[in-house]
Amino acid sequence: MRDDFDSKTKHTLALRVGHRCSNPNCRKSTSGPQEDATGAVNIGVAAHISAASPGGKRYDLRMTSQERKSIDNGIWLCQNCAKLIDSDERRFSGDLLIAWKQTSERAALLAVENSAPLPGSTQDEDIELVRFYSQCFDRPAFQDPFHEEGSMEAFDKAIEDTITAISTGSLRARDGVVLTQSKGKSYISNLQWRERMDVIVDLLRATRSRYSLAVQKGQIHIGPEHEGRRFYHIRDSQVGEWMNSTRSEIIQLFSGLCEEVGIPPLQFPRHYRKSKYW
Ligand SMILES: [Zn+2]
Repeated sequence: MRDDFDSKTKHTLALRVGHRCSNPNCRKSTSGPQEDATGAVNIGVAAHISAASPGGKRYDLRMTSQERKSIDNGIWLCQNCAKLIDSDERRFSGDLLIAWKQTSERAALLAVENSAPLPGSTQDEDIELVRFYSQCFDRPAFQDPFHEEGSMEAFDKAIEDTITAISTGSLRARDGVVLTQSKGKSYISNLQWRERMDVIVDLLRATRSRYSLAVQKGQIHIGPEHEGRRFYHIRDSQVGEWMNSTRSEIIQLFSGLCEEVGIPPLQFPRHYRKSKYW
């Protein structure tokens, strides 16, 4: 007997993550219009964290049937990722899936909510911090489409430096010299703003792991250095699309915060034009 989710649970799981796949390395949108103007396509799956029946992945004997079909045991994924998580139980543990689900739900929540104002001076300090983080995003790695990156290593390093700057408050130049010393995101007083920066850092981390996965799998080929220049080849266009859409999501989340605190938002790509990245 399978403990399947009912349709209300499935629907709620999809809504809670804004119909996006919850795998941070994927985040594909799982719904869209059908060609005829009245229909919609759904490529999302409400997957079980602990399997619905004995013998399934991550099956937990101690759970009741009710627990197995409850929303707490579900995660919204695209069809590919739903297959992926059942291919390797050790790699895709229950704890990992729960972490994916939480990040995904937090990102979806932040995309729709505004936060409550704080008393004057605390708010001013927060705004100064956001202004500092805005400076951290002011680099080509957050401005140019992925296929225009001159150096993939520099791109990865720039993302790493940004994570460090937002987490510790030290913004360093490429040679390691501290350019600006501020405070890390744990000093933000406004809980919702801090939460938003946490999600942004999670997405930045996902960007780095997606990049190293792509290099490992040969989806990005890094050629030998020749006269101080290196040749790169993005063999899988999906990697480029993932990088662009994830960065655009990061920039949008951060820009939403900028607008709330009253500083200019960021733009990605740098020069707005109607391109395939939007
Ligand atoms: Zn997916």
